Amino acid sequence: MQRYSVFAVAREALRHHTGWDRAWRSPAPKAKYDVVIVGAGGHGLATAYWLGKKYGIRNVAVIEKGWLGGGNTGRNTTIIRSNYLQDPSAAIYEKARSLYETISQDINYNVMFSPRGVMMLAQTHHEVRGYKRTAQANALQGVQTEFIGPGRVKDLCPILNIDGPRYPVLGALWQARGGTARHDAVAWGYARACSAMGMDIVQQCEVTAVRQAGGRAIGVTTTKGDIDCDKLALVVAGHSGVLAEMAGFRLPIESVALQALVSEPIKPCMDVVVMANTVHGYMSQSDKGEMVIGGGTDGFNNYTQRGSFHHIEETVRALIETFPMISRLKMLRQWGGIVDVTGDRSPIIGTTPLGNCFINCGWGTGGFKAIPGSGWATADLIARGEPGPLAAAFTLDRFREGRFIDESVAAGVAH
Ligand SMILES: Cc1cc2nc3c(=O)[nH]c(=O)nc-3n(C[C@H](O)[C@H](O)[C@H](O)COP(=O)(O)OP(=O)(O)OC[C@H]3O[C@@H](n4cnc5c(N)ncnc54)[C@H](O)[C@@H]3O)c2cc1C
Repeated sequence: MQRYSVFAVAREALRHHTGWDRAWRSPAPKAKYDVVIVGAGGHGLATAYWLGKKYGIRNVAVIEKGWLGGGNTGRNTTIIRSNYLQDPSAAIYEKARSLYETISQDINYNVMFSPRGVMMLAQTHHEVRGYKRTAQANALQGVQTEFIGPGRVKDLCPILNIDGPRYPVLGALWQARGGTARHDAVAWGYARACSAMGMDIVQQCEVTAVRQAGGRAIGVTTTKGDIDCDKLALVVAGHSGVLAEMAGFRLPIESVALQALVSEPIKPCMDVVVMANTVHGYMSQSDKGEMVIGGGTDGFNNYTQRGSFHHIEETVRALIETFPMISRLKMLRQWGGIVDVTGDRSPIIGTTPLGNCFINCGWGTGGFKAIPGSGWATADLIARGEPGPLAAAFTLDRFREGRFIDESVAAGVAH
């Protein structure tokens, strides 16, 4: 792999940028791999990366029906934080957050991780109690968060209206090392690292059937032909139910559209991420100056990748009361992604009723932040055949056994 560095940029500048290699290869699929991963989003690619890096398993294909990162990974609002309530969640999200701190060096690709701080506003007494409890739980879990008062909130984000016409700001749960990263770069960086290890990333290749014999997965049928494998991993977010049906089992998830929008670029006015869960909206400012805005999920299951109009109206209304100065801002684009939501708002990482078939799904509205840790945990699962410590609580059988990891409050508005 050609190393990216300041020297490489200088060298290429001198020769008119004619010497850059392609970031990743685009090979035709081979007839057989040790591991086939369906879905070249962040989670699928990070899984492949850690399989190669930690376990030396490199005869791996990542199969993608569109273009890599074209699912939710390239559509999200990039909030990264780890201040979840339950111990298993805090462990996997904090593992991921800590990997984000060094990911650009680890994969030699600048993912623009920006630990600018994330605050979740408390605008009801119920939220104050809930966030204080989370801050205390986080202290025990070794996750650095604190509950801050309204004065500190205003200092950190002067454009916030803390008096609120409906819900005054009573405080916030603040994670100083939370932040954002460039979402496409996370997918591109992992893809480049995987390709350099000899793995095949096969784009424009839809999986249409899961082939099985004797209760075990033996391969997939795709629009580019049959591909055999020893182990199969389904990492397809909003389409998990569709792939599970192909594999012959059902998942306790619902797929819904979640949408986001960005404004025209403006001068820097906000250097933290703010989530206002009671009024239902969140906002940060991108390096280009656009205000990145997210809202809620559609109230009905669908696969539209668009989202419905009334959510835009609700989200913008919520944000105007929180940040009155954005009232005259023009919106540039709006889009949606299909997220897969579980009843307890926690992911599923584990074996499935089909032998040699593993699943990683259910990250719902908040899985971008988890990508490096989720890949780590899923690689453990595939390599060992059973979940390691990070994933042990997230197996599918928790729904049968009633071992829920309830994050419906920590997951908040969305992320
Ligand atoms: C609008 C929006 C805002 C969000 N904001 C945040 C946020 O701020 N912070 C956060 O942490 N999370 C956020 N999320 C959630 C986050 O984006 C997802 O949890 C995460 O990206 C899921 O990654 P993934 O790799 O599992 O899925 P994806 O990136 O969706 O990748 C799955 C891939 O599988 C492919 N696929 C599907 N079916 C097939 C098939 N049959 N054959 C081959 N390939 C197939 C898809 O094309 C897709 O590329 C947001 C999501 C959305 C939609």
